[in-house]
Amino acid sequence: MPNVRLAVVIPVYNEEANLPLLMQRLLPVMQGLGKSFEIILIDDGSRDNSLEILKGFTRNSEVKIVELTRNYGQHAAIMAGFSITKADIVITIDADLQNPPEEITNLVRVMEEGNYDVVGTIRKGRKDSFLRILPSKIVNMVARKITGVSMRDWGCMLRAYKLSVVQRMIQCHEHATFIPALATVFAKHVTEIEVAHEERHGGKSNYPLRKLINLQFDLVASFSDLPMKLIMYGGILMSLLGVCFGTFLAIARLAYGARWAAEGIFTLFAVLFVFVGLQFFALGVIGEYIGRIYREVRKRPEYVIEKVHGK
Ligand code: UDP
Ligand code: MG
Repeated sequence: MPNVRLAVVIPVYNEEANLPLLMQRLLPVMQGLGKSFEIILIDDGSRDNSLEILKGFTRNSEVKIVELTRNYGQHAAIMAGFSITKADIVITIDADLQNPPEEITNLVRVMEEGNYDVVGTIRKGRKDSFLRILPSKIVNMVARKITGVSMRDWGCMLRAYKLSVVQRMIQCHEHATFIPALATVFAKHVTEIEVAHEERHGGKSNYPLRKLINLQFDLVASFSDLPMKLIMYGGILMSLLGVCFGTFLAIARLAYGARWAAEGIFTLFAVLFVFVGLQFFALGVIGEYIGRIYREVRKRPEYVIEKVHGK
């Protein structure tokens, strides 16, 4: 389709419960904008009935389905979607209806009026559990520091990108990437608007703690070596504290005798555990980096498209 103005890119992983309502709400919004558009849904190796439902959507000529060979993760899936669009403005949104599709109207308006490269969103009244919000808070803070871009909410995927930014992003063949942060590398004019946030419509979050930690590490590690530096400084600090503590123990022993020192053995254990823990943590972080380097040098594709359905 020539001259498509808008594209909506939606990663889908086991979202059978949400897809029908998603389309039901998204289509009128897009039609209401009065511009040509395409909706690209990427099946990220779903194990439920999502792919069949998606294929059904291709009856609508504006819908394209990208079928991946297996589960590559949300950000790789979005990249796969990016790779097949030529639209002027590309919008990403989650399939679980946590970001109301109705907000797209506003997003596109701000994007066009301000001629921005990227428009992000801030979730107001975020409907997630405390345990999901706390790590986000930390990550937002770290992301602001390391990218130097003062976005308030990095995690919200309801975003609009200019085609130029999208094309520069797909040229970075990185495995572990975090799209909102990557975009800031290529975007000059960036802004954020507030959007409503809803509870997941159906199914459950695809981010158990393990995946969440991995994703947060993607964000931090792909843009800085801050964690490694923190370990170094932390290590130096710990050693200094250790020296102080040792001196204190020696003095206390001289002053109060051996009996006191024997009882102090438990304190020593406590200290030991802290140090051992810290070492394991440090090894873990270094291991993460090495693992990531290994994945990058293997140069496997970040995603493999099995087939694109639709016109
Ligand atoms: N997703 C994906 N691949 C994955 C995990 C998630 O394509 O491996 C999609 C998922 O279908 C949804 C979006 O990414 O559209 C966000 O996932 P989810 O809602 O589970 O994340 P949360 O809102 O809990 O952060
Ligand atoms: Mg969600």
